[in-house]
Amino acid sequence: MDKLATDFAAEREAMVERQLRRRGIADPRILNAFRAVPREAFVAAEHAHLAYGDHPVPIAGGQTVSQPYIVALMIDAADIRRGHRVLEVGSGSGYAAAVISRIAGRVIGIERLPVLAAMSRERLRQLGCNTVEIIEADGTMGWHEGAPYDAILVAASGSHVPSALVEQLAPGGRLVMPIGARDDVQRLVQVTRFADGGVEHSDLGAVRFVPLIGEEGWKDG
Ligand code: SAM
Repeated sequence: MDKLATDFAAEREAMVERQLRRRGIADPRILNAFRAVPREAFVAAEHAHLAYGDHPVPIAGGQTVSQPYIVALMIDAADIRRGHRVLEVGSGSGYAAAVISRIAGRVIGIERLPVLAAMSRERLRQLGCNTVEIIEADGTMGWHEGAPYDAILVAASGSHVPSALVEQLAPGGRLVMPIGARDDVQRLVQVTRFADGGVEHSDLGAVRFVPLIGEEGWKDG
């Protein structure tokens, strides 16, 4: 039987409480952003019943929409605030971009797969997320036209942080990205760029992401 909007709303609230708040996500702006975005709208109808599970959910192109807690952890670590310009590399379904848009000023999502770029653009339009722009491109090069960014989130894993992304980070800006071996467990890394151009890295723990494929990422296939 199909779920009703009220069922999804109850699942969404339970997700925010059990998966985010009880695990230490305390910022009300982040919790409210997750309360405002219908995750079921970003997955195929046959996966809608999985939308609020404590795990990634399959999307088109063999990709996934990340586990809610990991999206929240990345947003928290990137210190995204009202008015910020944010770049999300690997915007996939558009879910994380929609959540970020509830906190930040402007969001640019870059997605390499045309099917996901097109689907996410349409979904975000339908949901009225008009501060999000989706670009179909290789995000390992960043998006120079929109730089500098106060925060950059990379939703796919690489062996290193692409240099273009660090260059496009504003002074005081933060980048969060999974770093490590392809198809294995990686470390979620927070990079802070200082006004003098120096950077500091912090380790936020173990994660597992799909590979970042591109010029400064892994090879396709
Ligand atoms: N945040 C996304 C969401 O809410 O659906 C998660 C998407 S998934 C974990 C990672 C995405 O990164 C995939 O859609 C994949 O196609 C994309 N990707 C991988 N390499 C990329 C690259 N170089 N540039 C842009 N997107 C890339």
